Amino acid sequence: MSRSSHSESVEAGVLRTLHRIHRQLADLRERRARGPRQRRNADAHVAHQDQLLATVQNEEQAMRMAADKKQLDLKTAEAKIKDLQTKLNTASSNKEYQALREQIAATEMATSVLADEILEAFEKIDAIQPKIAEAASVLEKARQKAEQTHSEVAREMPIVESEIARLEGELRQTEVALPAEVKELYQRVVRQRGEDALAAVEGQICLGCYTGVPLNVCNHIMLGYPVFCKTCGRLLYIPEQE
Ligand SMILES: [Zn+2]
Repeated sequence: MSRSSHSESVEAGVLRTLHRIHRQLADLRERRARGPRQRRNADAHVAHQDQLLATVQNEEQAMRMAADKKQLDLKTAEAKIKDLQTKLNTASSNKEYQALREQIAATEMATSVLADEILEAFEKIDAIQPKIAEAASVLEKARQKAEQTHSEVAREMPIVESEIARLEGELRQTEVALPAEVKELYQRVVRQRGEDALAAVEGQICLGCYTGVPLNVCNHIMLGYPVFCKTCGRLLYIPEQE
């Protein structure tokens, strides 16, 4: 560009290019930040589903232990009845005979209650099976999804990184065209605002903050003088005309 008449003037094309690069860089940096976040979210989802499966599995385990205990109690009661029946056959008195008969009846009653409870316990164990299967299936899907997310992020990150590096190079090259006195101010705004460091002016409006830009200021911009918006501080430029 010519620097003979106005050393501080900047071609509109340079500012448009700078804004385009800053926007692309912002988008790519957001994608770069999103990768690890997506991985963390996918892993957290797997851990959560794993926990839900463990909860129903522990519930089932407790049910099986309770059922086993009742089965053991039933066997003990049945053995007791056999033992009492043997004693009944050798009872030496009517009183002893009656007492044994009552004990047998009470124990039989207890075994009947236990048998019902065991049946109920097994029904509960059957009923929880679909819940376990469902939790296992959701966990498996979460694992597959997480694996997919990890490989997608692993594939995308180097592409994003190299694209960022390429654009940062293009940015440095383009910034060479900025006069020194503008460059310092521009870089300060870039540090503060990133992609919002620049804004187009259309119909005498700053598209960054939507406030009016006076006509004489617009003319200045058209002539290539670097102008920062008085309201939002963005470096202003004229967009490409159709
Ligand atoms: Zn503005």
